[in-house]
Amino acid sequence: MKEELSILIQAQYPLIYLLTSEEERSEQAIASIAQTKPQRRIFIWTVTHGIVEYGQPRSLTQHNTVSPEAAIEWVIRQRDPGIYIFKDLHPFIDSPATTRWLRDAVASFKGTQKTIILMSPDQTVPIELEKEVVVLDYPLPNLAELDEVLSAQLEQARARRTTTEAREKLLKATLGLTRDEAQKVYRKAHVTAGRLTEAEVEIVLSEKKQLIRRNGILEFIEVDETIDSIGGLEELKRWLQQRSNAFTERAREYGLPQPKGMLILGVPGCGKSLIAKTTSRLWSLPLLRLDMGRVYDGSTVGRSEANLRSALKTAESISPAILFIDEMDKAFAGSSGSSDSDGGTSSRIFGSFLTWMQEKQSPVFVMATANRVERLPGEFLRKGRFDEIFFVDLPNAEERQDIFKIHLQKRRRDIERFDIAQLANVCDGFSGAEIEQAIVAAMYEAFAQEREFTQLDIIAASRATLPLSKTMTEQVTALRDWARQRARPAASSVAEYQRLEF
Ligand code: ATP
Repeated sequence: MKEELSILIQAQYPLIYLLTSEEERSEQAIASIAQTKPQRRIFIWTVTHGIVEYGQPRSLTQHNTVSPEAAIEWVIRQRDPGIYIFKDLHPFIDSPATTRWLRDAVASFKGTQKTIILMSPDQTVPIELEKEVVVLDYPLPNLAELDEVLSAQLEQARARRTTTEAREKLLKATLGLTRDEAQKVYRKAHVTAGRLTEAEVEIVLSEKKQLIRRNGILEFIEVDETIDSIGGLEELKRWLQQRSNAFTERAREYGLPQPKGMLILGVPGCGKSLIAKTTSRLWSLPLLRLDMGRVYDGSTVGRSEANLRSALKTAESISPAILFIDEMDKAFAGSSGSSDSDGGTSSRIFGSFLTWMQEKQSPVFVMATANRVERLPGEFLRKGRFDEIFFVDLPNAEERQDIFKIHLQKRRRDIERFDIAQLANVCDGFSGAEIEQAIVAAMYEAFAQEREFTQLDIIAASRATLPLSKTMTEQVTALRDWARQRARPAASSVAEYQRLEF
Protein backbone atom coordinates (compact mmCIF):
# COMPACT_ATOMS: atom_id res chain seq x y z
CA MET A 1 0.00 0.00 0.00
CA LYS A 2 2.80 2.40 0.88
CA GLU A 3 4.34 1.63 -2.48
CA GLU A 4 1.10 2.30 -4.30
CA LEU A 5 0.66 5.58 -2.47
CA SER A 6 4.23 6.51 -3.31
CA ILE A 7 3.70 5.78 -7.01
CA LEU A 8 0.53 7.89 -7.09
CA ILE A 9 2.31 10.81 -5.45
CA GLN A 10 5.34 10.53 -7.76
CA ALA A 11 3.01 10.30 -10.74
CA GLN A 12 1.50 13.64 -9.66
CA TYR A 13 -1.98 12.42 -8.90
CA PRO A 14 -3.65 15.55 -7.55
CA LEU A 15 -6.28 14.03 -5.25
CA ILE A 16 -6.08 10.83 -3.22
CA TYR A 17 -8.71 9.62 -0.78
CA LEU A 18 -7.04 7.53 1.92
CA LEU A 19 -9.51 5.45 3.85
CA THR A 20 -8.16 4.75 7.29
CA SER A 21 -8.82 5.24 10.96
CA GLU A 22 -5.09 4.99 11.73
CA GLU A 23 -3.97 8.56 11.28
CA GLU A 24 -0.58 8.31 12.93
CA ARG A 25 0.44 5.21 11.03
CA SER A 26 -0.63 6.67 7.70
CA GLU A 27 1.09 10.00 8.44
CA GLN A 28 4.33 8.14 9.15
CA ALA A 29 4.05 6.30 5.85
CA ILE A 30 3.40 9.56 3.99
CA ALA A 31 6.30 11.24 5.80
CA SER A 32 8.71 8.57 4.58
CA ILE A 33 7.36 8.90 1.02
CA ALA A 34 7.87 12.67 1.21
CA GLN A 35 11.58 12.14 1.87
CA THR A 36 12.11 10.67 -1.59
CA LYS A 37 13.02 13.00 -4.42
CA PRO A 38 11.71 15.57 -5.07
CA GLN A 39 11.39 16.19 -1.34
CA ARG A 40 8.02 17.52 -0.40
CA ARG A 41 6.82 19.40 2.65
CA ILE A 42 3.75 18.00 4.36
CA PHE A 43 0.94 20.15 5.70
CA ILE A 44 -2.00 18.85 7.68
CA TRP A 45 -5.43 20.43 7.87
CA THR A 46 -7.88 19.78 10.69
CA VAL A 47 -11.07 21.64 11.44
CA THR A 48 -9.72 22.46 14.90
CA HIS A 49 -6.34 23.95 13.95
CA GLY A 50 -6.47 24.76 10.26
CA ILE A 51 -3.26 24.08 8.34
CA VAL A 52 -0.13 23.18 10.33
CA GLU A 53 3.13 21.89 8.90
CA TYR A 54 3.85 18.23 9.77
CA GLY A 55 6.19 17.99 12.74
CA GLN A 56 5.58 21.61 13.82
CA PRO A 57 3.67 22.61 16.97
CA ARG A 58 -0.01 23.23 16.45
CA SER A 59 0.39 26.84 17.54
CA LEU A 60 2.22 27.49 14.27
CA THR A 61 -0.96 27.32 12.28
CA GLN A 62 -1.35 29.09 8.95
CA HIS A 63 -3.47 32.14 9.49
CA ASN A 64 -7.16 31.84 8.71
CA THR A 65 -7.22 28.30 7.35
CA VAL A 66 -9.76 26.65 9.61
CA SER A 67 -12.55 26.79 7.07
CA PRO A 68 -12.16 24.07 4.42
CA GLU A 69 -12.59 26.55 1.55
CA ALA A 70 -9.95 28.93 2.91
CA ALA A 71 -7.60 26.01 3.50
CA ILE A 72 -7.92 24.69 -0.06
CA GLU A 73 -7.44 28.21 -1.41
CA TRP A 74 -4.26 28.46 0.66
CA VAL A 75 -3.04 25.18 -0.79
CA ILE A 76 -3.67 26.40 -4.34
CA ARG A 77 -1.51 29.46 -3.65
CA GLN A 78 1.54 27.38 -2.61
CA ARG A 79 4.30 27.02 -5.19
CA ASP A 80 6.66 24.35 -3.78
CA PRO A 81 6.16 20.58 -4.03
CA GLY A 82 3.96 19.54 -1.19
CA ILE A 83 1.58 16.95 0.25
CA TYR A 84 -1.53 18.41 1.86
CA ILE A 85 -3.36 16.06 4.16
CA PHE A 86 -6.94 16.97 5.00
CA LYS A 87 -8.10 14.99 8.01
CA ASP A 88 -11.80 14.26 8.27
CA LEU A 89 -12.99 16.53 5.52
CA HIS A 90 -15.85 14.15 4.80
CA PRO A 91 -18.58 16.03 6.73
CA PHE A 92 -17.81 19.18 4.67
CA ILE A 93 -17.02 17.67 1.32
CA ASP A 94 -20.59 17.69 0.10
CA SER A 95 -20.90 21.47 0.37
CA PRO A 96 -20.95 23.07 -3.10
CA ALA A 97 -18.13 25.48 -2.18
CA THR A 98 -15.78 22.78 -0.88
CA THR A 99 -16.39 20.54 -3.87
CA ARG A 100 -15.76 23.43 -6.24
CA TRP A 101 -12.57 24.48 -4.46
CA LEU A 102 -11.30 20.91 -4.64
CA ARG A 103 -11.99 20.81 -8.37
CA ASP A 104 -10.18 24.11 -8.79
CA ALA A 105 -7.26 22.72 -6.84
CA VAL A 106 -7.11 19.61 -9.01
CA ALA A 107 -7.12 21.77 -12.16
CA SER A 108 -4.39 24.08 -10.82
CA PHE A 109 -2.10 21.21 -9.75
CA LYS A 110 -1.34 20.15 -13.33
CA GLY A 111 2.39 20.05 -13.84
CA THR A 112 3.12 20.75 -10.15
CA GLN A 113 4.37 18.35 -7.50
CA LYS A 114 1.38 18.96 -5.28
CA THR A 115 -1.03 16.33 -3.95
CA ILE A 116 -4.02 16.60 -1.65
CA ILE A 117 -4.72 13.55 0.48
CA LEU A 118 -8.14 13.30 2.05
CA MET A 119 -7.63 11.10 5.10
CA SER A 120 -10.76 9.75 6.70
CA PRO A 121 -12.32 6.54 8.02
CA ASP A 122 -15.42 7.30 6.00
CA GLN A 123 -15.70 7.39 2.24
CA THR A 124 -17.75 10.30 0.94
CA VAL A 125 -16.99 11.33 -2.60
CA PRO A 126 -19.36 13.77 -4.27
CA ILE A 127 -20.25 12.85 -7.84
CA GLU A 128 -18.41 15.92 -9.19
CA LEU A 129 -15.15 14.56 -7.81
CA GLU A 130 -15.56 10.90 -8.66
CA LYS A 131 -13.44 11.14 -11.79
CA GLU A 132 -10.69 13.16 -10.13
CA VAL A 133 -10.05 11.12 -7.03
CA VAL A 134 -8.28 7.82 -6.43
CA VAL A 135 -9.54 5.96 -3.39
CA LEU A 136 -7.07 3.86 -1.42
CA ASP A 137 -8.09 1.67 1.45
CA TYR A 138 -5.22 1.56 3.90
CA PRO A 139 -4.89 -2.05 5.07
CA LEU A 140 -4.46 -3.11 8.67
CA PRO A 141 -0.89 -3.86 9.76
CA ASN A 142 0.68 -7.08 8.50
CA LEU A 143 2.82 -9.48 10.52
CA ALA A 144 6.02 -7.51 9.90
CA GLU A 145 4.48 -4.28 11.19
CA LEU A 146 3.00 -6.03 14.19
CA ASP A 147 6.42 -7.48 14.86
CA GLU A 148 7.76 -3.94 15.25
CA VAL A 149 5.02 -3.18 17.78
CA LEU A 150 5.72 -6.36 19.72
CA SER A 151 9.47 -5.75 19.75
CA ALA A 152 8.93 -2.24 21.05
CA GLN A 153 6.66 -3.55 23.80
CA LEU A 154 9.11 -6.28 24.82
CA GLU A 155 11.95 -3.81 24.89
CA GLN A 156 10.00 -1.23 26.83
CA ALA A 157 8.94 -3.80 29.41
CA ARG A 158 12.47 -5.22 29.46
CA ALA A 159 10.88 -8.59 29.02
CA ARG A 160 12.87 -11.70 28.29
CA ARG A 161 13.26 -12.66 24.65
CA THR A 162 10.47 -14.87 23.35
CA THR A 163 11.01 -17.97 21.26
CA THR A 164 10.33 -17.66 17.53
CA GLU A 165 7.31 -19.90 17.91
CA ALA A 166 5.78 -17.89 20.74
CA ARG A 167 6.44 -14.70 18.85
CA GLU A 168 4.67 -16.00 15.78
CA LYS A 169 1.66 -17.06 17.81
CA LEU A 170 1.47 -13.70 19.56
CA LEU A 171 1.70 -11.88 16.25
CA LYS A 172 -0.92 -14.01 14.55
CA ALA A 173 -3.23 -13.51 17.50
CA THR A 174 -3.23 -9.75 16.88
CA LEU A 175 -3.81 -9.84 13.14
CA GLY A 176 -6.95 -7.85 12.42
CA LEU A 177 -6.15 -5.07 14.87
CA THR A 178 -4.84 -1.60 14.20
CA ARG A 179 -1.33 -0.72 15.33
CA ASP A 180 -2.62 1.15 18.37
CA GLU A 181 -4.94 -1.66 19.31
CA ALA A 182 -2.16 -4.25 19.00
CA GLN A 183 0.01 -2.11 21.23
CA LYS A 184 -2.71 -1.90 23.87
CA VAL A 185 -3.36 -5.63 23.73
CA TYR A 186 0.32 -6.54 24.15
CA ARG A 187 0.65 -4.08 27.00
CA LYS A 188 -2.43 -5.42 28.77
CA ALA A 189 -1.31 -9.03 28.39
CA HIS A 190 2.08 -8.09 29.76
CA VAL A 191 0.65 -6.18 32.72
CA THR A 192 -1.81 -8.98 33.52
CA ALA A 193 0.68 -11.85 33.40
CA GLY A 194 3.93 -10.01 34.15
CA ARG A 195 5.46 -11.48 30.99
CA LEU A 196 4.74 -11.96 27.32
CA THR A 197 5.25 -15.54 26.27
CA GLU A 198 3.29 -18.21 24.47
CA ALA A 199 1.14 -18.63 27.57
CA GLU A 200 -0.23 -15.12 27.03
CA VAL A 201 -1.61 -15.87 23.57
CA GLU A 202 -4.98 -16.62 25.17
CA ILE A 203 -5.10 -13.20 26.87
CA VAL A 204 -4.16 -11.54 23.60
CA LEU A 205 -6.83 -13.47 21.73
CA SER A 206 -9.57 -12.70 24.20
CA GLU A 207 -8.61 -9.00 24.14
CA LYS A 208 -8.81 -9.08 20.38
CA LYS A 209 -12.23 -10.65 20.52
CA GLN A 210 -13.35 -7.84 22.82
CA LEU A 211 -12.05 -5.21 20.46
CA ILE A 212 -13.65 -6.80 17.45
CA ARG A 213 -16.91 -7.15 19.32
CA ARG A 214 -16.81 -3.47 20.17
CA ASN A 215 -17.06 -2.52 16.53
CA GLY A 216 -20.35 -4.39 16.69
CA ILE A 217 -20.49 -5.71 13.14
CA LEU A 218 -18.19 -8.68 13.33
CA GLU A 219 -18.35 -11.19 16.12
CA PHE A 220 -16.07 -14.06 17.00
CA ILE A 221 -18.07 -17.20 17.56
CA GLU A 222 -16.79 -19.85 19.91
CA VAL A 223 -17.77 -23.32 18.88
CA ASP A 224 -17.92 -26.41 21.07
CA GLU A 225 -19.85 -28.65 18.75
CA THR A 226 -18.28 -30.94 16.19
CA ILE A 227 -19.67 -32.09 12.88
CA ASP A 228 -20.81 -35.30 14.60
CA SER A 229 -23.48 -33.32 16.39
CA ILE A 230 -25.32 -32.91 13.10
CA GLY A 231 -27.77 -35.61 12.11
CA GLY A 232 -28.01 -36.40 8.40
CA LEU A 233 -26.77 -33.96 5.74
CA GLU A 234 -24.21 -36.56 4.71
CA GLU A 235 -23.44 -35.11 1.30
CA LEU A 236 -22.79 -31.67 2.72
CA LYS A 237 -20.62 -33.11 5.48
CA ARG A 238 -18.62 -35.11 2.96
CA TRP A 239 -18.06 -31.98 0.86
CA LEU A 240 -16.81 -30.12 3.91
CA GLN A 241 -14.64 -32.97 5.14
CA GLN A 242 -13.02 -33.21 1.73
CA ARG A 243 -11.96 -29.60 2.04
CA SER A 244 -10.65 -29.78 5.62
CA ASN A 245 -7.10 -29.10 4.52
CA ALA A 246 -7.88 -26.81 1.63
CA PHE A 247 -6.29 -23.78 3.27
CA THR A 248 -2.97 -25.42 4.00
CA GLU A 249 0.35 -24.80 2.33
CA ARG A 250 0.25 -28.40 1.14
CA ALA A 251 -3.01 -27.76 -0.75
CA ARG A 252 -1.50 -24.71 -2.40
CA GLU A 253 1.59 -26.62 -3.47
CA TYR A 254 -0.68 -29.30 -4.91
CA GLY A 255 -2.26 -26.60 -7.04
CA LEU A 256 -5.71 -26.58 -5.46
CA PRO A 257 -7.69 -23.36 -5.73
CA GLN A 258 -8.81 -21.94 -2.41
CA PRO A 259 -12.51 -22.53 -1.71
CA LYS A 260 -14.40 -19.23 -1.98
CA GLY A 261 -17.60 -19.93 -0.20
CA MET A 262 -20.87 -21.77 -0.01
CA LEU A 263 -24.49 -20.83 0.23
CA ILE A 264 -26.75 -23.02 2.33
CA LEU A 265 -30.40 -22.68 1.50
CA GLY A 266 -33.03 -24.40 3.44
CA VAL A 267 -36.03 -24.84 5.59
CA PRO A 268 -35.70 -22.97 8.92
CA GLY A 269 -34.37 -25.01 11.84
CA CYS A 270 -32.71 -27.74 9.78
CA GLY A 271 -29.18 -27.05 10.91
CA LYS A 272 -27.86 -24.42 8.50
CA SER A 273 -26.24 -22.32 11.21
CA LEU A 274 -25.06 -25.44 12.99
CA ILE A 275 -23.21 -26.53 9.85
CA ALA A 276 -21.45 -23.19 9.57
CA LYS A 277 -20.39 -23.33 13.18
CA THR A 278 -19.10 -26.86 13.14
CA THR A 279 -17.13 -26.22 9.95
CA SER A 280 -14.98 -23.86 11.94
CA ARG A 281 -13.98 -26.74 14.23
CA LEU A 282 -13.58 -29.15 11.34
CA TRP A 283 -11.28 -26.83 9.42
CA SER A 284 -9.63 -25.35 12.54
CA LEU A 285 -10.32 -21.84 11.33
CA PRO A 286 -11.73 -18.92 13.33
CA LEU A 287 -15.39 -18.19 12.74
CA LEU A 288 -16.46 -14.58 12.31
CA ARG A 289 -20.12 -13.71 12.11
CA LEU A 290 -20.99 -10.71 10.01
CA ASP A 291 -24.16 -9.12 11.25
CA MET A 292 -25.62 -7.52 8.14
CA GLY A 293 -28.34 -5.82 10.17
CA ARG A 294 -25.64 -3.81 11.90
CA VAL A 295 -23.89 -2.91 8.69
CA TYR A 296 -26.83 -0.69 7.77
CA ASP A 297 -26.58 2.74 9.28
CA GLY A 298 -28.66 5.52 7.88
CA SER A 299 -27.06 8.27 10.00
CA THR A 300 -24.81 9.58 7.24
CA VAL A 301 -24.43 8.81 3.58
CA GLY A 302 -21.74 6.21 3.02
CA ARG A 303 -21.70 5.00 6.65
CA SER A 304 -23.10 1.57 5.76
CA GLU A 305 -20.53 1.04 3.01
CA ALA A 306 -17.78 2.09 5.40
CA ASN A 307 -19.07 -0.40 7.96
CA LEU A 308 -19.06 -3.23 5.45
CA ARG A 309 -15.62 -2.33 4.19
CA SER A 310 -14.12 -2.19 7.65
CA ALA A 311 -15.67 -5.55 8.61
CA LEU A 312 -14.38 -7.24 5.46
CA LYS A 313 -10.97 -5.69 5.97
CA THR A 314 -10.82 -7.09 9.49
CA ALA A 315 -11.93 -10.52 8.27
CA GLU A 316 -9.23 -10.48 5.60
CA SER A 317 -6.52 -9.60 8.02
CA ILE A 318 -7.54 -12.45 10.33
CA SER A 319 -7.66 -14.91 7.41
CA PRO A 320 -7.60 -17.78 6.86
CA ALA A 321 -11.02 -17.57 8.43
CA ILE A 322 -14.67 -18.40 7.87
CA LEU A 323 -17.01 -15.47 7.43
CA PHE A 324 -20.48 -16.55 8.44
CA ILE A 325 -23.44 -14.53 7.19
CA ASP A 326 -26.66 -15.86 8.61
CA GLU A 327 -29.98 -15.15 6.89
CA MET A 328 -28.42 -13.38 3.97
CA ASP A 329 -31.86 -13.09 2.37
CA LYS A 330 -32.94 -10.67 5.09
CA ALA A 331 -29.86 -8.52 4.67
CA PHE A 332 -30.22 -8.06 0.97
CA ALA A 333 -33.99 -8.07 0.81
CA GLY A 334 -34.99 -5.46 -1.70
CA SER A 335 -31.51 -4.81 -3.02
CA SER A 336 -32.99 -5.03 -6.47
CA GLY A 337 -35.22 -2.01 -6.74
CA SER A 338 -34.79 -0.81 -3.20
CA SER A 339 -33.62 2.61 -4.29
CA ASP A 340 -36.96 4.11 -3.35
CA SER A 341 -37.15 2.67 0.12
CA ASP A 342 -33.63 3.24 1.45
CA GLY A 343 -31.96 5.58 -0.96
CA GLY A 344 -30.35 2.64 -2.73
CA THR A 345 -28.20 1.68 0.28
CA SER A 346 -28.98 -2.02 0.15
CA SER A 347 -28.22 -2.25 -3.57
CA ARG A 348 -24.93 -0.44 -3.04
CA ILE A 349 -24.04 -2.68 -0.12
CA PHE A 350 -24.99 -5.70 -2.14
CA GLY A 351 -22.87 -4.47 -5.06
CA SER A 352 -19.85 -3.86 -2.81
CA PHE A 353 -20.21 -7.28 -1.28
CA LEU A 354 -20.39 -9.00 -4.66
CA THR A 355 -17.34 -7.12 -5.91
CA TRP A 356 -15.44 -8.09 -2.81
CA MET A 357 -16.41 -11.74 -3.24
CA GLN A 358 -15.36 -11.63 -6.85
CA GLU A 359 -12.01 -10.01 -6.24
CA LYS A 360 -10.91 -11.27 -2.87
CA GLN A 361 -7.51 -12.93 -2.87
CA SER A 362 -7.30 -13.61 0.84
CA PRO A 363 -8.46 -16.96 2.20
CA VAL A 364 -11.79 -15.87 3.67
CA PHE A 365 -14.36 -18.59 3.15
CA VAL A 366 -17.88 -17.17 3.03
CA MET A 367 -20.62 -19.33 4.52
CA ALA A 368 -23.96 -17.75 3.90
CA THR A 369 -27.34 -19.13 4.83
CA ALA A 370 -30.77 -18.18 3.52
CA ASN A 371 -34.35 -19.32 4.02
CA ARG A 372 -36.10 -17.36 1.29
CA VAL A 373 -34.53 -17.73 -2.08
CA GLU A 374 -36.89 -15.32 -3.83
CA ARG A 375 -35.47 -12.51 -1.74
CA LEU A 376 -31.94 -13.09 -2.98
CA PRO A 377 -30.89 -11.11 -6.03
CA GLY A 378 -30.28 -13.25 -9.11
CA GLU A 379 -26.62 -12.20 -9.50
CA PHE A 380 -25.95 -13.76 -6.18
CA LEU A 381 -27.04 -17.21 -7.21
CA ARG A 382 -25.19 -17.21 -10.50
CA LYS A 383 -22.91 -20.19 -11.05
CA GLY A 384 -19.37 -19.55 -9.97
CA ARG A 385 -20.21 -16.98 -7.32
CA PHE A 386 -20.10 -19.65 -4.63
CA ASP A 387 -18.28 -22.96 -4.94
CA GLU A 388 -21.54 -24.70 -4.19
CA ILE A 389 -25.14 -23.98 -3.30
CA PHE A 390 -26.54 -26.61 -0.97
CA PHE A 391 -30.15 -27.19 -0.13
CA VAL A 392 -30.95 -28.46 3.35
CA ASP A 393 -34.33 -30.10 3.41
CA LEU A 394 -36.40 -31.42 6.29
CA PRO A 395 -34.79 -34.58 7.65
CA ASN A 396 -36.10 -37.94 6.42
CA ALA A 397 -36.98 -40.75 8.85
CA GLU A 398 -33.42 -42.04 9.13
CA GLU A 399 -32.04 -38.57 9.68
CA ARG A 400 -34.69 -37.87 12.31
CA GLN A 401 -33.50 -40.97 14.16
CA ASP A 402 -29.95 -39.63 14.07
CA ILE A 403 -31.09 -36.27 15.37
CA PHE A 404 -33.01 -37.89 18.23
CA LYS A 405 -29.96 -39.94 19.19
CA ILE A 406 -27.68 -36.90 19.08
CA HIS A 407 -29.92 -34.76 21.25
CA LEU A 408 -30.70 -37.49 23.78
CA GLN A 409 -27.01 -38.29 24.14
CA LYS A 410 -26.19 -34.62 24.43
CA ARG A 411 -28.47 -34.59 27.47
CA ARG A 412 -26.67 -37.65 28.82
CA ARG A 413 -29.58 -40.07 28.35
CA ASP A 414 -29.26 -43.75 27.44
CA ILE A 415 -30.75 -44.10 23.96
CA GLU A 416 -31.51 -47.75 24.64
CA ARG A 417 -34.38 -46.58 26.85
CA PHE A 418 -36.17 -45.08 23.85
CA ASP A 419 -37.79 -46.51 20.74
CA ILE A 420 -36.05 -44.12 18.36
CA ALA A 421 -37.75 -45.46 15.23
CA GLN A 422 -41.17 -44.76 16.72
CA LEU A 423 -40.15 -41.24 17.76
CA ALA A 424 -38.87 -40.54 14.25
CA ASN A 425 -42.22 -41.66 12.81
CA VAL A 426 -44.24 -39.48 15.14
CA CYS A 427 -42.11 -36.50 14.14
CA ASP A 428 -42.67 -36.77 10.42
CA GLY A 429 -42.32 -33.28 8.88
CA PHE A 430 -40.33 -31.94 11.84
CA SER A 431 -37.13 -29.96 11.50
CA GLY A 432 -34.06 -30.72 13.63
CA ALA A 433 -34.83 -27.72 15.81
CA GLU A 434 -38.39 -28.93 16.34
CA ILE A 435 -37.18 -32.40 17.32
CA GLU A 436 -34.81 -30.82 19.83
CA GLN A 437 -37.67 -28.69 21.17
CA ALA A 438 -39.89 -31.75 21.60
CA ILE A 439 -37.20 -33.36 23.79
CA VAL A 440 -36.77 -30.17 25.81
CA ALA A 441 -40.54 -29.79 26.31
CA ALA A 442 -40.75 -33.43 27.47
CA MET A 443 -37.94 -32.79 29.95
CA TYR A 444 -39.68 -29.74 31.40
CA GLU A 445 -42.92 -31.65 31.80
CA ALA A 446 -41.25 -34.54 33.63
CA PHE A 447 -38.99 -32.29 35.70
CA ALA A 448 -42.02 -30.37 36.99
CA GLN A 449 -43.45 -33.68 38.12
CA GLU A 450 -40.12 -34.66 39.68
CA ARG A 451 -39.52 -37.71 37.52
CA GLU A 452 -37.40 -38.81 34.58
CA PHE A 453 -38.86 -38.14 31.12
CA THR A 454 -39.95 -41.02 28.92
CA GLN A 455 -40.85 -41.98 25.38
CA LEU A 456 -44.47 -40.99 26.07
CA ASP A 457 -43.48 -37.48 27.19
CA ILE A 458 -41.66 -36.92 23.90
CA ILE A 459 -44.58 -38.28 21.90
CA ALA A 460 -47.00 -36.01 23.78
CA ALA A 461 -44.78 -33.00 23.21
CA SER A 462 -44.48 -33.80 19.50
CA ARG A 463 -48.22 -34.13 19.11
CA ALA A 464 -48.65 -30.71 20.71
CA THR A 465 -46.29 -29.18 18.14
CA LEU A 466 -47.43 -27.78 14.84
CA PRO A 467 -44.30 -27.96 12.71
CA LEU A 468 -43.31 -25.18 10.34
CA SER A 469 -43.68 -27.58 7.43
CA LYS A 470 -47.41 -27.51 8.13
CA THR A 471 -47.76 -23.83 8.91
CA MET A 472 -45.57 -22.72 6.02
CA THR A 473 -46.32 -25.46 3.49
CA GLU A 474 -46.41 -23.12 0.51
CA GLN A 475 -43.10 -21.50 1.29
CA VAL A 476 -41.38 -24.81 1.90
CA THR A 477 -42.78 -26.29 -1.32
CA ALA A 478 -41.68 -23.25 -3.34
CA LEU A 479 -38.17 -23.48 -1.90
CA ARG A 480 -37.96 -27.18 -2.70
CA ASP A 481 -39.11 -26.64 -6.24
CA TRP A 482 -36.51 -23.98 -6.77
CA ALA A 483 -33.74 -25.99 -5.14
CA ARG A 484 -34.48 -29.16 -7.10
CA GLN A 485 -33.30 -27.46 -10.27
CA ARG A 486 -30.47 -25.36 -8.99
CA ALA A 487 -28.96 -26.56 -5.74
CA ARG A 488 -27.18 -29.64 -4.53
CA PRO A 489 -29.06 -31.63 -1.90
CA ALA A 490 -27.30 -31.74 1.46
CA ALA A 491 -28.78 -35.14 2.25
CA SER A 492 -27.05 -38.32 1.16
CA SER A 493 -28.33 -38.93 -2.32
CA VAL A 494 -30.44 -37.36 -5.00
CA ALA A 495 -32.70 -40.40 -5.10
CA GLU A 496 -33.40 -40.06 -1.44
CA TYR A 497 -33.90 -36.37 -1.76
CA GLN A 498 -36.46 -36.84 -4.51
CA ARG A 499 -38.28 -39.35 -2.37
CA LEU A 500 -38.83 -36.65 0.22
CA GLU A 501 -42.26 -35.36 -0.56
CA PHE A 502 -44.98 -34.26 1.76
P1 ATP B 1 -32.81 -20.76 10.94
O1 ATP B 1 -33.00 -20.68 9.48
O2 ATP B 1 -34.07 -20.60 11.72
O3 ATP B 1 -31.67 -19.96 11.46
P2 ATP B 1 -31.17 -23.09 10.85
O4 ATP B 1 -31.46 -23.96 9.69
O5 ATP B 1 -29.97 -22.23 10.79
O6 ATP B 1 -32.43 -22.26 11.23
P3 ATP B 1 -30.09 -24.05 13.25
O7 ATP B 1 -30.13 -22.73 13.93
O8 ATP B 1 -28.79 -24.55 12.82
O9 ATP B 1 -31.08 -24.05 12.06
O10 ATP B 1 -30.82 -25.14 14.13
C1 ATP B 1 -31.31 -24.86 15.40
C2 ATP B 1 -30.98 -25.99 16.34
O11 ATP B 1 -31.70 -27.17 15.96
C3 ATP B 1 -29.52 -26.40 16.27
O12 ATP B 1 -28.73 -25.65 17.15
C4 ATP B 1 -29.58 -27.87 16.67
O13 ATP B 1 -29.56 -28.00 18.06
C5 ATP B 1 -30.92 -28.32 16.13
N1 ATP B 1 -30.76 -28.97 14.83
C6 ATP B 1 -31.24 -28.55 13.64
N2 ATP B 1 -30.93 -29.41 12.65
C7 ATP B 1 -30.18 -30.39 13.22
C8 ATP B 1 -29.53 -31.57 12.72
N3 ATP B 1 -29.59 -31.91 11.43
N4 ATP B 1 -28.86 -32.32 13.60
C9 ATP B 1 -28.81 -32.01 14.91
N5 ATP B 1 -29.40 -30.92 15.44
C10 ATP B 1 -30.09 -30.12 14.61
